[in-house]
Amino acid sequence: MRRIISEDKANSRESVHILEAHLVLLKDKMIYNRTIEVIEKDLINAEWAVMRVVTGLKSMFEGMDDDYLRDRGSDILHVTERIMTHLTGSDVVNISDIDKRVILVARDLSPAETSQIQLERVMGFVTDFGASTSHTGIIARSLEIPAVLGLENGYSQIKNNDIIIVDGGAGVVVINPKEQTLIEAEELKANYEARRAAYTRRGHLPSKTKDGCDLPIMGNIELPEEVVAVLDKGGDGIGLYRTEFQYLSRRDFPSEDELFENYKSVIEVMPEKPVTIRTLDINGDKALNHINVLDEANPALGMRAIRYCLEKTDVFKTQLRAIYRAAKFGRVRLLLPMISRVQEVIETKTIIGEVVNSLKKDGLPFQKDIQIGVMIEVPSAALTADQIAKQVDFFSIGTNDLIQYTMAMDRGNQHVAYLYNPLNPAVLSLIKNATDAAHKNNIPVFMCGEMASEPLYTPVLLGLGLDELSANPQAIPVIKNAVRTLDAKQARLAVEQIMTLTSEQEIEALLLSNFGDLFNNNLNRSWRR
Ligand code: PEP
Ligand code: MG
Repeated sequence: MRRIISEDKANSRESVHILEAHLVLLKDKMIYNRTIEVIEKDLINAEWAVMRVVTGLKSMFEGMDDDYLRDRGSDILHVTERIMTHLTGSDVVNISDIDKRVILVARDLSPAETSQIQLERVMGFVTDFGASTSHTGIIARSLEIPAVLGLENGYSQIKNNDIIIVDGGAGVVVINPKEQTLIEAEELKANYEARRAAYTRRGHLPSKTKDGCDLPIMGNIELPEEVVAVLDKGGDGIGLYRTEFQYLSRRDFPSEDELFENYKSVIEVMPEKPVTIRTLDINGDKALNHINVLDEANPALGMRAIRYCLEKTDVFKTQLRAIYRAAKFGRVRLLLPMISRVQEVIETKTIIGEVVNSLKKDGLPFQKDIQIGVMIEVPSAALTADQIAKQVDFFSIGTNDLIQYTMAMDRGNQHVAYLYNPLNPAVLSLIKNATDAAHKNNIPVFMCGEMASEPLYTPVLLGLGLDELSANPQAIPVIKNAVRTLDAKQARLAVEQIMTLTSEQEIEALLLSNFGDLFNNNLNRSWRR
C-alpha cells in the first residue's frame, strides 16, 4: 500500500493556512465575478478573461505601500497559475527543460514524458495516478529511478523545496523527514547499491541451472541507448525492443531511414546476439501526439498495436521495411504485439510478403529470412496458441497485458492494482497452455513481461518450460543468479504441485517454502506491493 508521511507538522499547518487563503481568493468577487463579467461583456475565452482581470489586480497590489497587502499580489498569481493549468489542461513543467537536481512530483506522467527524464537531473518521481505495472512504472525501473506511483495525494501535499524521501521499495514518500529518518534512508540506499553492485559483478556468468539447463536472460529496452545497459548487466541479447517510443513526443511519423538508423544502432552493439524488435504497440496508454489521435472510450481495448498497424498499412510497411533492412546487420527477430487471433498473423505475413517484394524491387540490401513471433498477451491468443503456433517461429509471453486482460484490471489504475498477480491460477494456466502448445509445435517460448524480472517467479517459469526470459536491464543479474541456484527438475516438480493450487497465497507460500533462500537478498521484490 502506498503511503505518504509528513514529519514536519509545523510546515503542514502553515501550508494548510496558505491553501485556505488561496481557496478564499479563488472564490473572491475580485477574480471570479469580474472574470465572468469580462467573458459576458467582451465575449472572449476564459483563459484570456482571467489573464486580463489578474493583470489589472496585480498592478493594483504592487502599487500598495503595505508589505502585507503587496504579498497578497503574489498569492493572486499563484492562484491564477493553478486556474490556468486547469483551463489549458497543460502541466506546468516541461520535463526535458528541468535544469537542476529534483524529485519530480506530478499528478500523472505519461510513458512518453517518463522516457524524456534526464537521469542526471531527476533523482526520483512521485505520481498521484498510475501503478507499477503501467508503462510509466516499467520505464522507471529500466532507468533505475526510485518512484512511487498511484500515491493519490502527493501533488496536493508536497510543496516546492520540500525535502522528500522516495522509497520505491516500500512505496512510501516521507515529507520533510527528521534527521534520524534521513540517516536511515541513506543507509538503506547505500546497502541497496552495494548489493546491486555485487549482483552486477556476477552478471556475466552463464545462465545455467545446477543440473545444466540453459535459460538465457535477455533485456527489455525502450530506447536505443539502453542496449548498452543490457550488455553491461550480462544480458544474452534483446528480448524486447519497444519501438513505439520513437513515435511518441513528436507531431509526425518517423521516416523509413530514421527508423532504419535507429534499429541499426541497436543491432550493431550486439551483432552476434538476438535482437527482438517488436512492431509498433501504439495507443492504449501510449497514444500518438499528432492529428491521428483516436477518440476511444476504452483505448486499452481499442485500436492498439497490431490492430492499428493492420488499419494503417502505410505506417506499418514503413516500419517493416526499416526492420528488414536493419536486420542485415545482426540477428533480428520480429515480434508482433497484441495478437488476439490467428487471422491477424496471416494478414501480417501477407503484408510482410509485399514489403519483401518492394525491397527487392527497390534493389535495397535486406535480410529476407527473419524469425517471426507473436506476443501472447491476450487471453484469446493463449487459448488458441495451438493454431497460432503453426504460423510463427516463436512466442513471447507478455504478462503485463495478459494479466490486465485476463483479470479485467487496468494495469495503470492504482485502485485495482491488488488484482495484478502473476501467480493467479488463471494466469498460470494460460501461460501453461501457450507453453505446451508452442512445444507441441516445436517452437520456443519466451517471456518478456515483467513476471520475468522477478526472481520469485523464476522457478515457476523454469518449471513451466520457458525457453528464454527477457527482463528489465537492471534485473538481469538478479535473474541470472536465480537461474544458477535452481535445479530444473525440482522446479518442474514444484510446478506440478502449483497447478493444483487455487490461490495466489498458497502458491506463493509453496514457492517460499521450496525456494525461500533465493529471495533473502533480493533486490527486486521491492516493486511488488
Ligand atoms: C507485456 O504486455 O507484458 C509486454 C511485455 O508488453 P508491454 O508492457 O509493452 O505492453
Ligand atoms: Mg503488452
